[in-house]
Amino acid sequence: MKSSLVILYHREPYDEVVKDGKTLYLPKKSPNGIVPTLKSFFADVNQGTWIAWKQVNSKQQAKFEKRVVVEDEGNYNVRRIPLTAEQVKHFYHITSKEAFWPILHSFPWHFTSETSDWENFQNINRLFAEAACDEAADDALIWIHDYNLWLAAKYIREHKPNARIAFFHHTPFPSVDVFNILPWREEIVESLLCCDVVGFHIPRYSENFVNVARSLKEVEVVKQEKVSGHITPVGIALAEPEMVTKLRYKGQLVNIDAFPVGTNPQYILSILHKSDTEARLEQIKQELSGRKLVIAAGRVDYVKGNREVLEAFGRLLERRPELLGKINLVMTCVQAAAGMRVYKTAQSQIEQLVGKINGRFARLDWTPIRLFTQPIPFADLLCYYKAADVCWTTPLRDGLNLVAKEYVVSHEGKNGALILSEFVGAAVELPQAILTNPYSIDRMDEAIDRALAMSPEEQAERMSKMYETVTTYDVKYWADRLLGLFKDLKHETVAEKELVSS
Ligand code: UDP
Repeated sequence: MKSSLVILYHREPYDEVVKDGKTLYLPKKSPNGIVPTLKSFFADVNQGTWIAWKQVNSKQQAKFEKRVVVEDEGNYNVRRIPLTAEQVKHFYHITSKEAFWPILHSFPWHFTSETSDWENFQNINRLFAEAACDEAADDALIWIHDYNLWLAAKYIREHKPNARIAFFHHTPFPSVDVFNILPWREEIVESLLCCDVVGFHIPRYSENFVNVARSLKEVEVVKQEKVSGHITPVGIALAEPEMVTKLRYKGQLVNIDAFPVGTNPQYILSILHKSDTEARLEQIKQELSGRKLVIAAGRVDYVKGNREVLEAFGRLLERRPELLGKINLVMTCVQAAAGMRVYKTAQSQIEQLVGKINGRFARLDWTPIRLFTQPIPFADLLCYYKAADVCWTTPLRDGLNLVAKEYVVSHEGKNGALILSEFVGAAVELPQAILTNPYSIDRMDEAIDRALAMSPEEQAERMSKMYETVTTYDVKYWADRLLGLFKDLKHETVAEKELVSS
C-alpha cells in the first residue's frame, strides 16, 4: 500500500536495541524533542513512511533491511537509506557542517567549499527522493526536514508532479548577502521553490528566504501579511513587522510559513514531579549549600556563544568579589560526534577558558564552574534548570533555542531569570526575558547583573508571562496548526487556480 504521508528526516525515529541476538526497534527512550511530534502525524493516516539514512559497512550492506516495521504507535514503516561511512562523512560532517552550517548561522568566515562534495550531496538527496517517490501515493503529502535534504524537493517534483511537498527549516535562514555566498545557491532555491509550503521558525527567516528567492529567480509576491499573534513584530534584533506568505514561481504557488516549534511542557512537568526527580533536585540544592546557580546548557558549537558566556562569567567574578564562593556556573557543553573537525577548536577553547577561570578563582571548598562535556540525562538537566536562579542562554545565532523554553517550563511561572540572546528564534516569542547581545561585553555584563539583582516579584511577573507563552504555543500547538495547513493544501498551479475561480 502506498503512503499518503511521507516524512524525510535525517534521523531514525526509534532506538535500535539488540536483545538476545535479535534487533528491536523500540520507541525512543527520551521522548523529548521533535521526533515524537512528527510521528504523531501518522496517527491520522492509513499508511505512512518515515525515511532516514543509516550508516552501514560492507558486511551489513549485504543483508541490509531497507524497510523496518516499528513496534510503536501509528501506521508507518521506516524506509532506510544505507550510506557508507565515507558518504556520511562527506554529506554530514563536511558538506553540511563546513559549508552550509556556517552560512545558515551567518558565520561566513567559517565557510569552506573546497572540501565539500556537492555531487555526493546531490546523490544522497536523490536517494531520499527516489525512496520517497517509491513509497508515496501520487497525491501524498511529502514532508521534508532541514537543509541536509534541500535538493530532495526538486527530485521528487520531477517524478510526482501532483504530490504536495512541504519543507521545514529547523535552522536559521540567513540574509541574502550571506546565503548567496553558497556556490550552489541556484539549485537549492530552485528546489525549495518546487514546494507547496516552505516553513521556518520565525518571520525573519522566511523573509530572508523570500529575499534570496527574489534575488535569484523571477518570483512574484502574491500575498504579504502583518506579523501578529505572539510573535513580536518590532523592536528587537530578529523582529519583522510583515512577511510574505505566498509567492508565485513558474506558474506554481509557494506558501511561506513561519511558526516556531514548541517544547513539550506536559512531558517536562511529568518528569519533574516524579519522586526520584524531586529527590535528585533536593540533593543538588544541598550540594549548592545556598550558593546561587547559573545554568548554561547546550552543545559545543561556535554558534552557541559558550566562549562569550564563560568570559562574561570570568569578568563577573573579577568585577564583583562579593560573589566569590557564593555562585556556581554549570555549563553543559555536549561534545560533537567524532569526525566533526569544525568543532575541535571550539571545544578546546571552552576547556581552556574553564580551566583558566577555575584556576584563577577556585578555593579548596569552591570551584566556580562545573563543565560537563557528556550529555546530561534529560531528567538531571531539568533538575539543574529548576535549581538554577538564572538560565544564561546566549548563542550568537540559533534557529530557536529549546533550552530557554525548557527552563521557563521547569519554573512553572514562579521564579527564575532567563538571559536570552536576541539572535535566537525564541527571542521574538519571549520579550519578557532579559534580552541581550552576546556580541557586546557591556550588554552581557549588564544582563547578568540584572538577572542576579531581579526581585522575586519581577521574576514571577516575567516568568509567568513566558510560562503562559510556552505552554500555549507548545509542540502540540505547532503540530496541530501545521496539520490544519496541510489539510487545506492542494498542489495547485496558478493556471488551475484561475480556472477554478473563473
Ligand atoms: N540537552 C540535553 N542534555 C544536555 C544538553 C542539552 O538533553 O546535556 C537537550 C536540551 O534539553 C534541548 C536540546 O538538547 O532539548 C538542545 O536544543 P536547543 O534547541 O537548545 O539547541 P540545538 O542543540 O538543537 O541546537
